[in-house]
Amino acid sequence: MTETQTSTNTPEQRAQAETVIYDQVKNNDETVQYNVVPRYAGTNPIPHEIHFTAYGNKGSTFTYILENPAAYVRTGALRPRRLVPENRMTRTTPPRPYDVEALFPALADYRRTATRLHPRPGDPKVYDSSVAGPMLWPADEPWPMCTAVHPKATGHLLADVRRARRIYAASEGRKKTDEEIALLATFQARPHDLPIGDADPIPMLAVAQLWARDIPDLTGPEGHDLLQVFWCPFEAHGPDRSVDVVLKWRRGEDIGTVLGDQPEPLVTSSAQCVPQPCELHPEQITEHEYLGLLPEDLQDSIAAWEEKLLDEDEDEDEEEAEAEADFPIEYASDLSLAPGWKVGGFATWHLTGPCPVDCTVCGTPMPPLLTAHYVEWDPASESWAPREDLRPDLFRHVITPTGVYLGRGYLRIHTCPADPLHPHRLGFQ
Ligand SMILES: [Zn+2]
Ligand SMILES: [Zn+2]
Repeated sequence: MTETQTSTNTPEQRAQAETVIYDQVKNNDETVQYNVVPRYAGTNPIPHEIHFTAYGNKGSTFTYILENPAAYVRTGALRPRRLVPENRMTRTTPPRPYDVEALFPALADYRRTATRLHPRPGDPKVYDSSVAGPMLWPADEPWPMCTAVHPKATGHLLADVRRARRIYAASEGRKKTDEEIALLATFQARPHDLPIGDADPIPMLAVAQLWARDIPDLTGPEGHDLLQVFWCPFEAHGPDRSVDVVLKWRRGEDIGTVLGDQPEPLVTSSAQCVPQPCELHPEQITEHEYLGLLPEDLQDSIAAWEEKLLDEDEDEDEEEAEAEADFPIEYASDLSLAPGWKVGGFATWHLTGPCPVDCTVCGTPMPPLLTAHYVEWDPASESWAPREDLRPDLFRHVITPTGVYLGRGYLRIHTCPADPLHPHRLGFQ
């Protein structure tokens, strides 16, 4: 079987499949049935994927899909449409430090699932769920445009935003060269000599493409399995003077010929309106309602419990208490709402206090559909950091993977559960 040597055969196949199965046999003393099935497309004699599955007699299961670029390189065959996600990398939220429903059974009525998207800088493809990846957009459909009147030629060039990010990435862990420093200094927000008037339509920016198959909490109109999110990257719209969001729900199977060259605006009001392309590693988790929206007696019980926890901490060995003193375990930061980009779940109101978000058409309360949060976690909410990301060398890539900072760090898109096609509303915290 012809297989690409580097990096498909080694190290990917060895590290991601063979070693995992080997360890299961060796360390867990399991008897494992192990299947390796090459997948072929059309008459191409070289497999385009290799599927690994394994089942152990103690209950372990394992699946992995290895892509084999040799299939395309050698024969020029077309890459097949990949509508099934790869089971490549996962992100795992550790269990909460306390079982909050065991402590407060009344919280069972205030539980909801959310899907953490775990965006990480990468090279998402057109059929993938992604942040700022290529959109699966029909070639014969007009691209969303911003027709609002606002300055559209003043700000940062998108090309400069990307050049700056490349310089920061390339110079990580070393001093920047004089040349790099000089170049970065030229990337300023300023008026650009472009023939774009304030009333001219400009293409909106591709922000996220989300498939229901990947994201269990993505619920849209009946039968629609794909959500495409765009925004105009000027903080100039609406009462909040922020980006303007467009949502497009689709049936993935309806899309025929895909648009090749994706339009995009040339200028943005700030780099923080431009997401960095990220692959997603969705993971469903459980959340509990924002503290300030719980019944008062429940809030009081939680506050009393947190108080007691602090006192116990102080009684402990002094050194240990000191180490933990900065960020004690709290309902708000550790037990209720997950930080980071997510679909579904509850909204935080830490900045403004709770405000109702009701549908402007039918009055139904609108939960958040998508939350774009600047950080994936912070020191207070570090208990949500996925196990796979707790490596110092990864740190900078996982804390602010998308580079998006809107509002005071949180942009939320709320949609109507009665009819997801009713106008969405934005929320900022
Ligand atoms: Zn605009
Ligand atoms: Zn509605």
